Amino acid sequence: MAVTPEFFEQLERFGVAKTFECFNCGTCAAICPLVYEHFPRKLIRYAQLGALDRILENPKELWRCLHCGLCTQTCPREANPGELILGLRRFVVDRWRRSQHV
Ligand code: SF4
Ligand code: SF4
Repeated sequence: MAVTPEFFEQLERFGVAKTFECFNCGTCAAICPLVYEHFPRKLIRYAQLGALDRILENPKELWRCLHCGLCTQTCPREANPGELILGLRRFVVDRWRRSQHV
């Protein structure tokens, strides 16, 4: 797994301010109605690690999120995981747009 340590700085440009507030307790994955592969906790962990390859190998899963807000409401660290998902979407779209020279 390749890592990009400064990835959190890139995410700040897409509205994600709290990447490292998360301590990976898993509450968000337990409350998320998707009940899908540790979602959204695993994506927050990937963002912390700068594991871009893990995020980009299946970007469509970011669009599974319903933006219901339950993860953000219950996060004990106020890490705002719902907003992180939206920020990752913006990052993926921007990356795609740049690759297409749009
Ligand atoms: S985002 Fe919040 S609820 Fe989810 S794993 Fe991190 S600290 Fe726990
Ligand atoms: S906002 Fe998205 S990630 Fe968070 S609980 Fe709802 S569906 Fe799951």
